[in-house]
Amino acid sequence: MKDSFGRDITYLRVSVTERCNLNCVYCGKTDCAKKENELSADEIVSIASAFTQCGIEKIRLTGGEPLVRNDICEITARLRALPGLRTLALTTNGVYLSQYARELKKAGLDSVNISLDSTDGSTYRKLTGADVLHRVLEGIDEAQRAALTPVKINAVLMRGVNEDSAASLIDLARTQPVDVRFIELMPFSDAGEDASRIVTNDALLRRFSFLRPLGARDGTAEMYTADGFCGRVGFISPISRRFCGTCNRMRLLSDGRVKLCLGDETTVDLRPLVGQREALLQAAQNCIRSKPAGHRFGETTQPHGLNKTGG
Ligand code: SAM
Repeated sequence: MKDSFGRDITYLRVSVTERCNLNCVYCGKTDCAKKENELSADEIVSIASAFTQCGIEKIRLTGGEPLVRNDICEITARLRALPGLRTLALTTNGVYLSQYARELKKAGLDSVNISLDSTDGSTYRKLTGADVLHRVLEGIDEAQRAALTPVKINAVLMRGVNEDSAASLIDLARTQPVDVRFIELMPFSDAGEDASRIVTNDALLRRFSFLRPLGARDGTAEMYTADGFCGRVGFISPISRRFCGTCNRMRLLSDGRVKLCLGDETTVDLRPLVGQREALLQAAQNCIRSKPAGHRFGETTQPHGLNKTGG
């Protein structure tokens, strides 16, 4: 289905929880008490089903950390069964991935994105508050063994914090068949962030000038590679090259509200309509029609970090 600006809306990101086992510096405060507001598996499937009836073809499970929900494999299997769904993916910090990868694959998950902002143990600990880098690296290996491919590694660089980690992250794409993607830091005020910490992707491309453009996009990422690389390097630039004109996304938050744009605070609560099939379908259609033209990063600072809005 098209929105009012003629964009085909085909992609739903589903935040299954706000809870997270890490405490990343750029992500906003984690509020564990919010568990009681989380949608049940039944509610998630009902709302997602309304969206697949509107033409959503791809769903990504995210959070918070989706693997802290102990019914994540059930949610995966039930979403997989929705008619019209082509791709089911998940974004995770990877800490629990080695224990879940095979079960998730069996439940019908296609691929995973794993967040990793440094391969240096002490920088990783400083960024996330946890000494679990080895578990994330095991998770990356296990995801490849379980064929949750393409395995994509997402990194956010912050000036003065982990910008030195870029080279070793790029090296992962040299030695492994993975896509390493750099996402520009988006400023969220509950994380105390401001624009001065952003490392632009243009600056990275100047620094790593051996990277060669593939002339192809993968979703929102511009893709590069280099001689001798097994994988690719991607650049996602919401700040320096906004891609709102081709945005195809809606976001379901973990409490049942739908966020129409990552960088706009408007939400629509669909939870009260669960169980009313026709009303839910109409509300989903209205959400798609009401999607704003573009994000407002840079005009206003967004109050809530991605743990609340689903990364
Ligand atoms: N817990 C999961 C994970 O770590 O991948 C899923 C949620 S996390 C919010 C999703 C992604 O959002 C991560 O790759 C994270 O790096 C990214 N992210 C969080 N805050 C961000 C920010 N302020 N700017 C850019 N990316 C951000």
